[in-house]
Amino acid sequence: MTTKYIFFTGGVVSSVGKGLTAAAVGRLLKERGFNVAVQKLDPYLNVDPGTMSPYQHGEVFVLDDGAETDLDLGHYERFIDISLSRVCNVTTGQVYAEVISKERHGDYLGGTIQVIPHITNEIKRRIGMVSKATGAEIVLVEIGGTVGDIESQPFLEALRQMRSDLGRENSLYIHVTWLPYIGATGELKTKPTQHSVRELRSIGISPDMIVARSDHPVDDDLCAKIALFCDVERRAVVPLVTTPVRYEVPLVLEDLGIGDYLMQRMGLQARQQPDWSAWKRLVDEVKRPRPKVKVALVGKYVELHDAYFSVREALEHAGMALGVDVEISWVQSSELEKGRGWEMVQAAHGVLVPGGFGSRGVEGKIQAIRYAREQGVPYLGLCLGMQLLVVEFARHLMGSDEPNSTEFDRSTEYPVIDLMPDQRSIADMGGTMRLGLYPCELQPGSRAAQAYQKTMVQERHRHRFELNNAYRKLLSDGGMVFSGISPDGRLVEIAEISNHPFMLATQFHPEFLSRPNRPHPLFLAFIEAVRQRAGNEQVAD
Ligand code: GLN
Repeated sequence: MTTKYIFFTGGVVSSVGKGLTAAAVGRLLKERGFNVAVQKLDPYLNVDPGTMSPYQHGEVFVLDDGAETDLDLGHYERFIDISLSRVCNVTTGQVYAEVISKERHGDYLGGTIQVIPHITNEIKRRIGMVSKATGAEIVLVEIGGTVGDIESQPFLEALRQMRSDLGRENSLYIHVTWLPYIGATGELKTKPTQHSVRELRSIGISPDMIVARSDHPVDDDLCAKIALFCDVERRAVVPLVTTPVRYEVPLVLEDLGIGDYLMQRMGLQARQQPDWSAWKRLVDEVKRPRPKVKVALVGKYVELHDAYFSVREALEHAGMALGVDVEISWVQSSELEKGRGWEMVQAAHGVLVPGGFGSRGVEGKIQAIRYAREQGVPYLGLCLGMQLLVVEFARHLMGSDEPNSTEFDRSTEYPVIDLMPDQRSIADMGGTMRLGLYPCELQPGSRAAQAYQKTMVQERHRHRFELNNAYRKLLSDGGMVFSGISPDGRLVEIAEISNHPFMLATQFHPEFLSRPNRPHPLFLAFIEAVRQRAGNEQVAD
């Protein structure tokens, strides 16, 4: 079939859940038997978010092919249960870098290079790459930011042109807006939506559907008003009220008839009846009052929960599967160094140290790991969380504070974590880490092998440093088990501590592969240990 495109633009304000809406729409289409992919267009000049601070941007989501992408790609993968490709995240930086390098190469010899058509053509070329790379029959394209931003203009212009390139049946524009609530009069306002649609029209795009996001119920009259003023069918005005459970959004959209409406608009027949039974069970499970267990997430960017989005999700997925409600205590590791915040760690049934960069708060994380080891509290370490487990354990075995990672102390006498040899000569910071899927062989009988029920796994990576093999013997003689190793034997990918209820850490990022319907085995094993500890505490009370 001809590839169909659905474009998502934002109006009024950002952060109203455009990415989630796109992900949910993707699920509606997948449920009808179509092959779907989602692409995010980010109008900033960085080539990718890999060099940005998580405070600026939230989590950097890593794909199988090693692309460092926007966290919305995580929503897409989790909601639709697909694996995306690096062509699915495009930035202004990538587009300009390509056009300028072609110009230097002489590809446009004799011409003047301009935003229209050269930049817009490059944007269109990249949109066109998605179906080839992923095999998608329907490509959903989300533009970051809101209509009216200077940065997004070339992207919107490219989308405008695509309607005449593709035809009406093959291109659909969904505009996601926000209805502000005026407390004094208790009403929702449609005026900003009207304005943003007018703005979109002035660029030459008429939306086919308006998703009106709101924190309050939206009545039918209001939808009719939006339809009238914004010139869309009443059926195509979708009131999307904030739900406490993110995973409910596809069900809400299905109930509003959006899946069938989209089929009709694109001239498609559903290939199968959507079957939401498993999805509904998930949502019911989240809504059901479940016993609470507490996990202390000891990190550096804890003020911004988005910085650990996939970790949060993976914990929730495991909790859903095991019938417990995982509550996260966000612990700032630099505070622990000053003796503050320990009550949160002590009240938790498990400790998790996620990935991170730079030295701030590292000692606090090490102290939290020591606490977990000494008190027998379940511990899961992710990437930096594994490296610091190794540092802590080496310090304990050697009875010295000297062992360290050379990321934090270049001249340490005991560099138990060090740069990978192939990283030594790299000067550029962007896209040069060890990135993406790598195989890992599990040691039979280890905790990791028990959790996975496999001997070989593939996991996503994003790091420069690794365990220094010169210390493997010392560490394993002391009770550390290297339960996951790269098939060539060179790199330690999983470390465990024997003689402990659960202390396991990975050099990779398991959180990126967890799905609501398929929780990650290591998160499951961790939460199972956390649940046992919580249960034991209750008995002791
Ligand atoms: N900073 C560490 C490294 O580069 C850990 C990276 C991470 O946690 N993602 O190896």
